Amino acid sequence: MNYKNWVFCCVTLFYSMVTQAQNNFDAFFEKKSLRVDFALSGNVEEQSAALRQLREEPVWGGPVKNLIDKFIYGSNYINLYDKQSGRLIYSRGFNTLFDEWITTDQAKNETQSWDNSVSVPFPKRTIILEITARERKTNKFHPLLRMDVDPGSIFIDKGKLKENKIARIQHKGDPAEKVDLVFIGEGYTASEQEKFEADARRFTELLFKTDPYGSRRDDFNVWAVGVVSEESGTDSSGKGIFKNTALNSGYYTFGIDRYLTTPDMRSIRNAVWNIPCDAIFILVNVQTYGGGGMYNFYAIGTADNEKTAHVFVHEFGHSFAGLADEYFSSEVAYNDFYPLNMEPWEPNITTLIDFDSKWKDLLPAGTPIPTPLTDAYKDKAGVFEGGGYVSKGVYRPMDHCMMRDYHPFCPACQRAILRMIDYLCDKDY
Ligand SMILES: [Zn+2]
Repeated sequence: MNYKNWVFCCVTLFYSMVTQAQNNFDAFFEKKSLRVDFALSGNVEEQSAALRQLREEPVWGGPVKNLIDKFIYGSNYINLYDKQSGRLIYSRGFNTLFDEWITTDQAKNETQSWDNSVSVPFPKRTIILEITARERKTNKFHPLLRMDVDPGSIFIDKGKLKENKIARIQHKGDPAEKVDLVFIGEGYTASEQEKFEADARRFTELLFKTDPYGSRRDDFNVWAVGVVSEESGTDSSGKGIFKNTALNSGYYTFGIDRYLTTPDMRSIRNAVWNIPCDAIFILVNVQTYGGGGMYNFYAIGTADNEKTAHVFVHEFGHSFAGLADEYFSSEVAYNDFYPLNMEPWEPNITTLIDFDSKWKDLLPAGTPIPTPLTDAYKDKAGVFEGGGYVSKGVYRPMDHCMMRDYHPFCPACQRAILRMIDYLCDKDY
């Protein structure tokens, strides 16, 4: 085959693959969402899942070509199979707060149930819906819930929900081809809604001041959903402070004063029911340092702390790109969070069990593995011991990074963020 014919073939193949992917979407899905609310329950020994409700919602803003998620990130996956053919037609990984909770001491003595919610494209015909969980000891996924879903079922709620004030902060194009980042206001009263929108605009600028987000600004649509809370602020249970807020957020998650989260995933999804949404950042109207972020779940942070900019970009790194914490000298409540005989799924830490699957290709030639923290190596990509909350056995890609101590993102984190942007923009990734 001559060169011209070869190029022609490649181009034809590429277009037929793109058309095929698009056809797959049109064959199996409508451009609406099926929202799946479910509970994860259990303790350190055993976990189970149960359906809470199914909802049809009017918008699908996710990819229409990248329907199968190849990242294999997260503690759980949602898989959709075409019932007739048995073929996998959609998958997506995610993390939950419940998955963190089962590594705490509390989960040794108590059994709890946590709310979760995931949106998938709305099926045209009957599917098998499956939720799987990653086994901590083997890294393999096993099904927690498997059920048929008939899109015509009377048990799917199609009702409208409360229409909140939505501000379009930045619009760059078709939601299927852009990352739709949604800020949700928490702890802002009716009279503080202008402040929320101004805060969301300020945070948008903070994000795009940071690379690699800045270099890809045109790939993002940004929205702000003004949810009204009865009271200003958030809970701080360890200090006896309890506020009546829309999303039920609070500090002292797992007993840690600075760990600000909310278990109320249903209220979060209720807030975004009528807009495209690839990534959620909950902006909490308080000053105290704190925040949190779980992969493809949400990130949360405080509007007015002096370190806000960094906390925001750090926590968003967890939720958006599945990045791990690279720090290792801090108070955490977890036990054996990263088993050392297993390669963690996060793209920016390694136990060296399967380092080839991580950032080995980013190391300068001749870099020793592991890499000593000497003048010759400390400012370059390497494999430095300490990360993922422990000083031994887990390694990070650079001495400093946004995911350790608010320095610029290391090369491994940068690549992971760019890959996620490509995936959500329906490009090759
Ligand atoms: Zn990093």
